[in-house]
Amino acid sequence: MSVATASPAAEEARESGRRHVRVGIVGAGFSGICMAIRLKQAGIHDFAIIERADELGGTWRDNTYPGCSCDVPSHLYSYSFERNPEWGSFFATQPEILGYLRRCAEKYGVMEHIRFGEEMLDSSWDAGERIWRGVTTKGEFTCDIAISAVGGLTEPFIPDVPGLERFAGAKFHSARWDHGHDLRGKRVAVIGTGASAAQFVPEIQPVVDRLTLFQRTPPWILPRRNRRSTGIERAIMRRVPGAQRLVRSGIFAFFEGGTPAFLGKSAPLLDAIEGTARRHLRKQVPDRELRRRLRPDYRIGCKRVILADDWYPALQQPNVEVVSGGLAEVRGRSVVDEAGTEHDVDTIIFGTGFQIWDQPNMGRLRGRDGRSMADVWQGFPQAYLGTAVAGFPNMFMLVGPNTGQGNNSVLNMVEAQVDYVVDAITAMDREGLRTVEVRDDVQERFNRELQSRHRGAVWEGCQSWYLTPDGRNPTIWPGWTYEYWWRTRKWKPADYHLTLA
Ligand code: NAP
Repeated sequence: MSVATASPAAEEARESGRRHVRVGIVGAGFSGICMAIRLKQAGIHDFAIIERADELGGTWRDNTYPGCSCDVPSHLYSYSFERNPEWGSFFATQPEILGYLRRCAEKYGVMEHIRFGEEMLDSSWDAGERIWRGVTTKGEFTCDIAISAVGGLTEPFIPDVPGLERFAGAKFHSARWDHGHDLRGKRVAVIGTGASAAQFVPEIQPVVDRLTLFQRTPPWILPRRNRRSTGIERAIMRRVPGAQRLVRSGIFAFFEGGTPAFLGKSAPLLDAIEGTARRHLRKQVPDRELRRRLRPDYRIGCKRVILADDWYPALQQPNVEVVSGGLAEVRGRSVVDEAGTEHDVDTIIFGTGFQIWDQPNMGRLRGRDGRSMADVWQGFPQAYLGTAVAGFPNMFMLVGPNTGQGNNSVLNMVEAQVDYVVDAITAMDREGLRTVEVRDDVQERFNRELQSRHRGAVWEGCQSWYLTPDGRNPTIWPGWTYEYWWRTRKWKPADYHLTLA
């Protein structure tokens, strides 16, 4: 595979000692590492990954809370080209997933491309030179093609609660767990009942003195039925050709099968999924009053569905109090609920999720007319195939708008995007293209179609991080994974404005 001859900018950069690469990637999480592996496999080695932390892994590096594990079975939540027969359980733990990702980066020779401890502060398109100019914490950096692989669940969200700054105890977010803070014997307030809280609450409940859980909206909970994998199973995965592929395909098909229900196209299927969750609640929570408070009043799938067998049991322990509603105020040594009741606490843990679409990274990425991505989006992120954005030449985005999935592994989408980007770059090299920029009309038509397809989907029925405050959905792919694969299988030059080298 040939790589394009060095651009004048690259030559100039080399002469001046400025760092220049063909492809600059920001972020060394699952999507950035996948991008790097596929570039190398395509014969493209002139690239760098800028990573602000000293370790790769993205969300799997940052989230180290007790009980952190994947809620998608690991035989599916892994790269299709790097299956792992050694998963210790059906849903792997965070350290195991991080170890897997590290092994992938080492095996495929990606480590030497990662610039750890370097943060991208600003990237802007230089229309004269037709390159991306980056300013990082370590100096200047330029590239011909920029790839944003910063992920969506990066910046912790902590609500602006009156008095929070005056709290005299410890407070931290689930994605920045304070392992130096001993929770034994502490009175702890947990804010939020999302996927993160559902994993760490059952872990900390036995060690804390009291746990006051602020539940603004009850989540839907399905049985998890996690278990350790046996030696025989691992041996089969290792030795029997096709065994792991078969298991992976089965899990994929099972999750994919739920798609019509969540798209609002199969009420009986949605009813059946809800029925499983209701039975789980009935079986695990005998107390009628508590059950009423834990029962969601929106359709399943509207928010992220949680898989847990230990959540309801933990909430019924004598040292746990479930407070229905949000946090109204924080005082020196206490928190106040919306009913005005004060609860004495030593520690507050925020399981309140992430800043999804107003994350600072998007304010630091400036396109052809000098406007940042945040300014262009105006609170409503849009892209073509979640990957290319009009006004941002030679820029691709991984896990971009509308590539999220409520009912399947996002890594399926990531791999499709990555292959699409590699196809674009190899086409640029082959055809001698200097710049590619998605056409406005193509992007607009695509997004009109997507938004119309969200109508009637289950996530329209409640407020969640899937939606903007005005109810639009820039997050979820409103279709089958297969369809996304099909639409991204080939980079189409007709969708783009092109300039020659
Ligand atoms: P989340 O799903 O956004 O949940 C945030 C929780 O905080 C919600 O219960 C929310 O209540 C509550 N909350 C927010 N602001 C509040 C306030 N001012 N007062 C009271 N409660 C407040 O966040 P998350 O649990 O960190 O999960 C985020 C995403 O990460 C998940 O959806 C999932 O995609 C991913 N995740 C994945 C795994 C995995 O196993 N792969 C594990 C953890 C997380 P409302 O519902 O009322 O808004």
